[in-house]
Amino acid sequence: MNYREFGKTGEKISALGFGCMRFPEYQKNGKSCVDQDRVDEMIRTAFENGVNYFDTAPYYCGNNSETALGKAVKDFRDQVLLSTKLPTEEIGKPDDFRRGVERSLRGLGTDHIDFYHFWGINKDKFDNVILKYHLLEEAAKAKEEGLIRHISFSFHDDPRVIRYIIDTSEERGVCMESMLCQYNLLDRSNEEMIRYAHEKGLGTVAMGPVGGGRLAAPTDLYAKLTGKAPIATYELAFKFCLGNPNLNCALSGMQTADMVRQNAGLASDSTAFSEEEWQQLGKAMEEIRKFDELYCTGCRYCQPCPAGIDIPRIFECYTYHNVYGLTDHAKRMMESYVKNGGKVYKDCKNCGLCERKCPQHLPVRAHLDKVCGLFDV
Ligand code: SF4
Ligand code: SF4
Repeated sequence: MNYREFGKTGEKISALGFGCMRFPEYQKNGKSCVDQDRVDEMIRTAFENGVNYFDTAPYYCGNNSETALGKAVKDFRDQVLLSTKLPTEEIGKPDDFRRGVERSLRGLGTDHIDFYHFWGINKDKFDNVILKYHLLEEAAKAKEEGLIRHISFSFHDDPRVIRYIIDTSEERGVCMESMLCQYNLLDRSNEEMIRYAHEKGLGTVAMGPVGGGRLAAPTDLYAKLTGKAPIATYELAFKFCLGNPNLNCALSGMQTADMVRQNAGLASDSTAFSEEEWQQLGKAMEEIRKFDELYCTGCRYCQPCPAGIDIPRIFECYTYHNVYGLTDHAKRMMESYVKNGGKVYKDCKNCGLCERKCPQHLPVRAHLDKVCGLFDV
């Protein structure tokens, strides 16, 4: 297993982390239960293969993941790093932080949490929950008492907000120590901020390294990108993630002991993740995209649109369909965007602002018309 310095936390983290959101389950009397025997086997296999970072959260697997993980690591608890999260939507006062920590300690059956995350935060949650209820100070207190060892956050928002969260926390005197965010070969939007976090001394962990399963089917993508012999796409995805010198660990939500052995094997091959290959893959991926007639870089200079249309998001769906052939995924993305109130071409006010701002000089309105028509929204 490859180990990396985990930012300035003083910890060494395994390149492969175990994401505990997809433990095997079975139904009993209409209720979902975690299959503890299989979880024990998988977690022990991971530990014996060098994995030392296990990431869970209160709601995973019908609220059973923390307990199942705690039971599975009890024989080697002091040799692994446990990470879990605070659901910020449950917070209405400063004391709720402590309640969250205590619940996770009980669930995990431990007296300390190694990495405690503010869960899935965005600017709104950071300003209106974390700062409003003084949760940074609460976290510092919990750390002083030894209930948590490191303060972390996981993230879902415009990547630029990552800098705001890291810098504002530092200004308030409570430094974030590690960050968990989405990153994979198809979605590199957080790449620059992963570098920023790394430079600021945070440990960095990627979730979705195999693109939430989208990249999991074997294809000849690697061969096409590099001219080398084909490899399975999940291997390519790990290669890409772990080749990034600013990233410390890739989380994988493994579901069988065989999958654990396979991924641990990959994360142990120290020749597999060179920065050079990472750069080559990234460039090759960009080249493929550049040949597309709709080359949107996702820079977001066209935002905000007065009609509220998230133009780069809509164009991203098209890229998944047109460049990577992931049409079903693209459809699901678009459906979810519209279901959550996302605006589309028919809402356009025809002001032309987006086209004046787009550095790629894209005929944005014509493309929006075409893409929205294609997805029938
Ligand atoms: S032209 Fe339409 S899509 Fe472009 S900024 Fe104006 S309202 Fe938004
Ligand atoms: S400004 Fe152009 S390239 Fe940038 S996100 Fe908007 S459409 Fe894409």
